Amino acid sequence: MNLKPLLSENQASKPLVIAGPCSVETPEQLDRTVAGLVEAGIRIIRGGVWKPRTRPGSFEGVGDIALSWIVDVKKRHDVKFAVEVASARHVEQALGHGIDVLWIGARSTVNPFTVQEIADSLKGVDIPVLVKNPVNADIGLWIGALERINKAGIERLAAIHRGFSNFNEKLYRNSPMWQIPIELKTRFPELPIINDPSHISGQRHLVPGIAQMALDLNFDGLIIESHVDPDAAWSDAAQQLTPGDLSTLLRSLHLRSGFSPNPKFASQLELLREKVDEIDRQLLETLSRRMHLVEQAGEYKKENNVAIFQLERWREIFESRPEWAKSLKLNPAFIREIFQLIHAQSIDVQERILGKKD
Ligand code: PEP
Ligand code: MN
Repeated sequence: MNLKPLLSENQASKPLVIAGPCSVETPEQLDRTVAGLVEAGIRIIRGGVWKPRTRPGSFEGVGDIALSWIVDVKKRHDVKFAVEVASARHVEQALGHGIDVLWIGARSTVNPFTVQEIADSLKGVDIPVLVKNPVNADIGLWIGALERINKAGIERLAAIHRGFSNFNEKLYRNSPMWQIPIELKTRFPELPIINDPSHISGQRHLVPGIAQMALDLNFDGLIIESHVDPDAAWSDAAQQLTPGDLSTLLRSLHLRSGFSPNPKFASQLELLREKVDEIDRQLLETLSRRMHLVEQAGEYKKENNVAIFQLERWREIFESRPEWAKSLKLNPAFIREIFQLIHAQSIDVQERILGKKD
């Protein structure tokens, strides 16, 4: 991808923080929210004008009329403004009203036709574009959308990590699946990644933990939903923070940097990493020895015509290993997951042995 810095030096804070309501609702709500955010030090405001909602009948944004309120509020408070666009018409309307930053929502990123339509409408335009991850955990769709926008000539580009829809998720509205944005950063180191703790959390008390995690992982910025009266918000009420609470949150975050000025830091880190590499090699050798024993057990089961899956044995493994983990100060849930994978692989190995002709 051909990339340029997202914003000029004087516009970009580090980390970059964008905040604002999920939706623009009324001129008063917008003005009071932006006034509070400016006091909290925010210079780039977000606000949905056209809202893609999962179910019909939910509030779908006030639409084009909000653009004139945004023009006013930008002038009054001297701020930049970001809105979501989901069609060529939205792009045309947004550009016509001096919107400064565009973003593509999670429900649009999943659809290459939609993304291409937006990309085509951006040809010859120079504006920062942020691409949210698709709702489903597919890094290919995310990269594809970024590439379509980049190919249209948009070089001020960033990704927004807003989490992934996950049927098994209990705590968050969308699972963070941190390994996916990390993989994106590994493949495109120059591409800024902005974390959206609001849409991951779904509940305001979870927002700070996700925001801090993003900074610990060296993300480039945060986009956070903030509303002057969150409980009365017309969309995403549970996850929005008042500008005051946002300000408190920002002051409580610990900033991390990608490097340390301490000259000893690099060599000490290298030493620790070498030790970790050595332990990983030992782990793999141990795993290989375990698999070899599993193969032998498979042969033995085959000779004696015994089924591969023995419920009692599996129960015993599944209960004892997390217990052993506790005494080693390892997280039992993590160890349970590892043994689920190891067991599935062991079954596969034995299944192959059983399937082999004598
Ligand atoms: C939003 O930013 O309010 C929004 C609709 O988010 P997403 O596309 O991530 O669901
Ligand atoms: Mn929202």
